[in-house]
Amino acid sequence: MTTPPSARCWTEIDLGALERNLKRIRAGLPEWIRYVAVVKADAYGHGMAQTVTRLMRSGVDLLAVANVREGIEIREIGAGWPILILSAALPDEVDDIVEWDLIPTLSSVEEAARFAAAARRQQRTVSVHLKIDTGMGRLGVWHENAEDLLAAVLVHPELLPAGIFTHFASADIDPAFTARQRRVFLNTLGRLKGLEAADLLIHADNSAGLESFTRAGPFNAVRVGLLQFGIPPSPDSVLRSVQTDPVLSFHTRVGLVKSLPAGTGISYGQTYTLGCDSRVAILAAGYADGIPTALSNRGSVLIRGNRCSVLGRVTMDQTIVDVTAIPHVHAGDTATFIGDQERESIRVEDFCSISGQIPWEALVSITKRVQRIYKIDTGI
Ligand SMILES: *Cc1c(COP(=O)(O)O)cnc(C)c1O
Repeated sequence: MTTPPSARCWTEIDLGALERNLKRIRAGLPEWIRYVAVVKADAYGHGMAQTVTRLMRSGVDLLAVANVREGIEIREIGAGWPILILSAALPDEVDDIVEWDLIPTLSSVEEAARFAAAARRQQRTVSVHLKIDTGMGRLGVWHENAEDLLAAVLVHPELLPAGIFTHFASADIDPAFTARQRRVFLNTLGRLKGLEAADLLIHADNSAGLESFTRAGPFNAVRVGLLQFGIPPSPDSVLRSVQTDPVLSFHTRVGLVKSLPAGTGISYGQTYTLGCDSRVAILAAGYADGIPTALSNRGSVLIRGNRCSVLGRVTMDQTIVDVTAIPHVHAGDTATFIGDQERESIRVEDFCSISGQIPWEALVSITKRVQRIYKIDTGI
């Protein structure tokens, strides 16, 4: 870890680790499986431009984002990449999606008509992916009505079906439900006629789904988000054959060290009272940086390789920790919320088990006040 000069709070993003993770995930899949890198929400808080630039050089086939603005951001980084938009397009986003040559996800007859009309207006064609709801109850046409959606796409020559997919709601916690969703999806595919385009992408598996990925069957792509950033989707369902390394670490610095007498109440609301004479360090990061208030009186950080407990409430710009037992702590020292120091380590999963967040949420909650420092490391 390198402390950037004058940084108060920063994440270090190891692009070499990202590339290694991608290669390890791909190595665990048949080589004909295409890789859709999911980079919505600023690449899960890792920074869209840097992450996507590295992924484009490291061998992905498609990029997937949540919305048209994220799609345009990628279009401006690299020309020609297929970019899939995973969320439903608002009616007033349709024209931009067509104009920027992005691939919308269609869940309804109405959406199909809207995209066909936009394509006609712009005298273009649009590649589309059809989404099937196999039991999540979110996006996608309900599987029993999939024929209606396909018919609505095929009736418009402007719409080119390029893919069909579903999303697993519980792949990390409920393998039986996921197996049922997989079966429903395969049955639906079997019923649909007229989708025989040679290069149709058929995909379902997210990071957790890879656990039950099967090379038998029609699947020819996966959609991976969290795992490429080195984080298993749940502690019990690590993709056992693939070892990934965390890409992101999260640090701040000690702003002030001071001694306080026993009996002092700490921070707003005085929810913690010092039991003995203590030394505390005031850290230069708070909830405005993405430190969850749920870490109040519960979280810990690493300073000089030692674990230090959070005392009292996390505040907007500061967090207070106990350094009584740690000699030589000084203003300017690095304090690590997520990452390694000497032999100690706090993984995103550990951070989340205390904050009550899921890893996706913790990553995207790191705010824009936090500097992003990139480690390029090309020696893969
Ligand atoms: C976010 C998302 C993914 C990626 O999920 P991970 O669990 O992060 O791998 C895949 N598919 C869809 C539709 C998504 O919205």
